[in-house]
Amino acid sequence: MSSSFKEYIRVIEDFPQPGISFKDITTLLQNGPVYKEVILELARQFRDHEIDCIAGPEARGFVIGAPLAVELGVGFIPIRKSGKLPGETIEADYDLEYGNDKLSMHKDAIKPGQKVLIADDLLATGGTIATSINLVEQLGGIVVGAAFLIELVDLKGREKLGTIDIVSLVKYD
Ligand code: 5GP
Repeated sequence: MSSSFKEYIRVIEDFPQPGISFKDITTLLQNGPVYKEVILELARQFRDHEIDCIAGPEARGFVIGAPLAVELGVGFIPIRKSGKLPGETIEADYDLEYGNDKLSMHKDAIKPGQKVLIADDLLATGGTIATSINLVEQLGGIVVGAAFLIELVDLKGREKLGTIDIVSLVKYD
């Protein structure tokens, strides 16, 4: 089914601002069997990586990462915007088109040496995932891969992510 996941993604032009061609995954998520197949396909690709946990950035990284963690039988670690997590956190800066922001993770979320898979809905410039990798590595975790539903290939996000295993199920130029 993976070749047809694209049919379930709705493209909305000029959202959230003029010139952006937004890939809306809500139309895929509302179809239970297709959503499930996305998760099973990503799980198939990472089942032999001996992953200890999955980390995903809010909010759409939760939608992919949490069910993937359940399917692989490992824990899920939320990566959130600064000020949202209740416990002691670590932070990393990430650049936005205008200005910058911070992502954060609980300090006790990962133990040194743990193998971590990062999951999100979409890889664009790679900034969000590079920042997520920074957080995992601050805690001594080893990022073994990154799983995405969508990759915007022309934005070359892959090149920012080093040698980790990167899987995306749907590609756009
Ligand atoms: P990056 O940091 O790789 O440039 O951007 C990826 C992040 O922005 C992801 O967390 C993703 O949720 C969000 N994002 C950027 N563009 C889109 C889009 O067209 N569709 C969706 N669903 N998310 C997007």
